[in-house]
Amino acid sequence: MKVETLIIGAGAAGMMCAAHAGPGVLVVDHAKAAGEKIRISGGGRCNFTNLYASPQNFISQNRHFCKSALGRYTQWDFIALVDQYRIAWHEKTLGQLFCDNSAKDIIAMLRAEMDKAGAQLWLQTAVSEISHDGSGFRATLTREGSDQTVTARNLVVACGGKSIPKMGATGLGYQIATQFGLPVIDPRPGLVPLTFSDERFKPLAGVATHARVSANDASFDEAILFTHRGLSGPAVLQASSYWHEGETISVNLIPKGDLLAGLQSHRQSDGRKALTTVLAQHLPARLVDHLKAELPLEGNIADQSDAKLTALCERLADWTLTPAGSEGYRTAEVTLGGVDTGALSSKTMAAKSVPGLYFIGECVDVTGWLGGYNFQWAWSSGWAAGQAIANQ
Ligand SMILES: Cc1cc2nc3c(=O)[nH]c(=O)nc-3n(C[C@H](O)[C@H](O)[C@H](O)COP(=O)(O)OP(=O)(O)OC[C@H]3O[C@@H](n4cnc5c(N)ncnc54)[C@H](O)[C@@H]3O)c2cc1C
Repeated sequence: MKVETLIIGAGAAGMMCAAHAGPGVLVVDHAKAAGEKIRISGGGRCNFTNLYASPQNFISQNRHFCKSALGRYTQWDFIALVDQYRIAWHEKTLGQLFCDNSAKDIIAMLRAEMDKAGAQLWLQTAVSEISHDGSGFRATLTREGSDQTVTARNLVVACGGKSIPKMGATGLGYQIATQFGLPVIDPRPGLVPLTFSDERFKPLAGVATHARVSANDASFDEAILFTHRGLSGPAVLQASSYWHEGETISVNLIPKGDLLAGLQSHRQSDGRKALTTVLAQHLPARLVDHLKAELPLEGNIADQSDAKLTALCERLADWTLTPAGSEGYRTAEVTLGGVDTGALSSKTMAAKSVPGLYFIGECVDVTGWLGGYNFQWAWSSGWAAGQAIANQ
């Protein structure tokens, strides 16, 4: 069988590309259904983009690479498409847009766009061999128990990263890149809960509080959640993408910075109260109980000098922790690293050294923050490759 364009992966980026790549598109995926990660995303409501998406919300060895695609297919373009399909949406927080009804509405929209473009979709199709004979690509596909050879002028690799192998993530994109001589930045889990070697946070499991979590140069002001094995919640997930094994993170438990004045005023009004009781008005009581082992929290508030209270607030503003690791690809929302952007055109997502070969979405070394940014990258990069192919 001969097609113009073979797209491997019917996820967010692959479907978007298929809708824009012109005639003769075949999309293949080994999963039973297209867009499985879209279906489970955002608690089933898909945080499909972010009102404030801009290149600074993305991590890559080349921070400039994502600018072209994000600038030419923006969050406003995707919102216009969603509106065209009358999919109701709302902003939850921090510019994060979610479907009112179901993430399945986004999948149905993308499938409708693919149908409109005449793209074919083969599900439960395994990809084995891929080669390039100088003029085009040849892929061996296994479908319904039999092998078929497909030749294509263009090959678009849209098979995502390694996150959540249970949902079909395989890392095939990195293998294809390596096969064709493109460098790959070491993939690692991102947007992932952090773990600790001891069980120190077990008694705190389920406790949530607002904090500013910093790793390397990045800081995120959002909720944190203590788990049986460590720390999670949006601020920790965000910081995890900037954290490397062996490094510390800093947790500012009093990000508003007004605790010292609060404690001083309690000292005037409730001098006989235990310091821990007063602190528990500002932080979860179970957390204060836990901190007793690490911080000098004995005595009444009246016994605390300004110097002591200042030192305490400084410690609470910079609680330094060394995670042992992360929950890994089993729960990571994304994969950092991927196909080195130096080997790709930022305008078309095409490999510079192999004509007709494209990489889009999560398999590329561009990773977004939590909050709809990763889907926006999938839409923008998928659109950029699709446009380039259609205009060939
Ligand atoms: C639980 C969860 C929730 C998330 N929520 C959000 C959110 O709300 N907002 C947001 O912006 N991002 C979210 N993300 C991240 C987002 O889902 C991804 O960044 C995005 O799906 C990447 O798109 P993609 O098309 O590159 O890859 P994917 O969507 O992962 O698609 C890749 C496709 O390739 C197929 N494939 C893989 N290997 C093979 C193979 N060997 N042969 C054939 N087919 C193959 C897969 O089956 C899959 O269909 C979430 C991720 C997870 C895991």
